[in-house]
Amino acid sequence: MLRENIPDLADLELVAAVADKAVRVKQLLHDVARDYAPAVFANSLGAEDMVLTDMIWSEGIDIGIFSLDTGRLPAETCELMAKAERRYGRRLEVFTPRHDTVQDFVAGFGINGFYDSVEARKACCHARKIEPLQRALAGKQAWITGLRAAQSPTRDKLKTVAFDHGNKLVKISPLADWSEREVWVYLRANNVPYNALHDRNYPSIGCAPCTRAIQPGEDVRAGRWWWESADTKECGLHLVDGKLQRVATAKVGAGGTATA
Ligand code: SF4
Repeated sequence: MLRENIPDLADLELVAAVADKAVRVKQLLHDVARDYAPAVFANSLGAEDMVLTDMIWSEGIDIGIFSLDTGRLPAETCELMAKAERRYGRRLEVFTPRHDTVQDFVAGFGINGFYDSVEARKACCHARKIEPLQRALAGKQAWITGLRAAQSPTRDKLKTVAFDHGNKLVKISPLADWSEREVWVYLRANNVPYNALHDRNYPSIGCAPCTRAIQPGEDVRAGRWWWESADTKECGLHLVDGKLQRVATAKVGAGGTATA
């Protein structure tokens, strides 16, 4: 979130509209817990994901929450994990990569080999993100994500409820119709913890070596894998109809955060 785009809580109409939307999302989460047990929320610790974390833990909804610790996360992201655990009195389930696959990557490509080629970068993302995600989703009926349609170039493709053919389970995106502004109204109105890097022009936060701050007017994903061309910037965590979906292309200027 760029500082100049922080929403004004004095806009009572907006605050009330967000509160109404939040009631509907909480009801959806209750329904998911009832109809798709066991369901899990893949918490990438971005702004949207902290909205859902707040809803699930504050409401005591029976949905597990997990995060992926790739081993290369920024210190600020680890601090947010600890802060959230303190705030809600709950423990995040954290999935880490298999040591042998990381060792194989480092042996084959080098410790920072992901800078050298798309092939190497994808191999690193597979070892540190995709394989742990697949383990986290094993045996689940549904997974929940913080994706929003406004982050995607194929907005009509992001549905609140869809079948994820890649991971073979139902995928639910309760904030699909939320705007960036609404996300930040919710965070501020409910005093929800968020990643300190958002205040330093990091709208999209991933691993430390693969994320940088952006300038106003840049694509919100410009700070992710910035050395690659736009059409290769995927880690493979999100698929729509079996195809990789780019998570965000919105320009920052009207505000924007994106994760994953
Ligand atoms: Fe590796 Fe970078 Fe992908 Fe993280 S984002 S898993 S460090 S290539």
